[in-house]
Amino acid sequence: MFVRGAGSYLWDDSRKRYLDFVQGWAVNALGHSPPGRCRSACGAGQAAADAEPGLLQRSEPASSRKALVENSCFDQVSSPIPGAEANEGAIKLARKYGAKYKNGAFEIITFEGGFHGRTLATMSASGKKAFEPLFEPKVSGFRKAKLNDLDPVKALISDNTVAVMLEPIQGEAGVWPATDQFLQELRALTKEHGLLLIVDEIQTGMGRTGKLFHYEHAGIEPDIMTLGKGIGGGVPLAALLATDACVVLRTRRPGRHLQRQSVDVRRGLAVLEHVATPEFLKAVADAGLFLESELQKLSARHGLGEVRGRGLLLALDLKLPIGAAIVAEALADGVLINSPQPDALRFMPALNVTREEISLMIDCLDAILVKAGAARRVA
Ligand code: PLP
Repeated sequence: MFVRGAGSYLWDDSRKRYLDFVQGWAVNALGHSPPGRCRSACGAGQAAADAEPGLLQRSEPASSRKALVENSCFDQVSSPIPGAEANEGAIKLARKYGAKYKNGAFEIITFEGGFHGRTLATMSASGKKAFEPLFEPKVSGFRKAKLNDLDPVKALISDNTVAVMLEPIQGEAGVWPATDQFLQELRALTKEHGLLLIVDEIQTGMGRTGKLFHYEHAGIEPDIMTLGKGIGGGVPLAALLATDACVVLRTRRPGRHLQRQSVDVRRGLAVLEHVATPEFLKAVADAGLFLESELQKLSARHGLGEVRGRGLLLALDLKLPIGAAIVAEALADGVLINSPQPDALRFMPALNVTREEISLMIDCLDAILVKAGAARRVA
């Protein structure tokens, strides 16, 4: 049970300290209990109470959630998470655009391996194999192409197509980046066919890859972007951004899509102010290069595979399905990492992670891999 968080560290109820390279799946952009205005924007003390340890690790329920349980006949409460809702909004926006400007076109081309959330429509848009048998029937109107291959995208375009939607780096699938060239080609193709280009930057946005938004690496301008996770710096917040040309959901009819409260938005702006400076983004890029080179050295030492990703969203290919075992050992050793696929580890530390913290995490992994190698040799 995690009871306290500060920066890159969490403490459990037995006072054991953990170095956190998951940060609630890249949610705590500035670490636990973030500094300055990012903390005060949601009220003193709340930031610490809301430290987001992640889906699989428990923290004390926020007091409002506890009160809901205590005052009802229910035992559990979960709070719907907003990234999926932003994507839901992007999908609705595209469909409305299709209805208005493209003869009712409604299909959205998405990608195998992609992940866009856990609402019914966003699960349907996702290309995650494990989602396929769940909650049938899915929402129709999503056609899946292969990442970094333009021909299958071209082959799926029809009169029904209104948009192409993708994560610039597929996080859940194991950190598979769309190449800058592919993003540029997609932008050209979507323009040529009058389709909207939607980037889901819920994981890659807000400085995570060393630019404020990942699309900047490719020098393109999408039509629609969704943000989540890091924008709230630990509290649930998301954003749906669109160019004027495709804004068809008017605020005159606010009932058509949900809106967030201003206290969350203030927190988001505070995070943005902190992150959106050239110095901060350069520090993220530098920390990312350091982490990447340390992971490469680790990989070479232990005969592992490639290091993929960008900035502070990186994966190490383990070549073997040993991810869960390494995650469990690291947890016992006081380090939180994540294995989105059995043969990969994913690293999503706070954007202000220090070199010292990176080295500590690498030392921990090194020791685990030395032990694992010795065990394999004995076996
Ligand atoms: N899109 C991407 C790329 C994500 O990584 C996630 C969350 O992991 C989502 C959408 C869904 O966001 P949320 O969990 O806030 O609904």
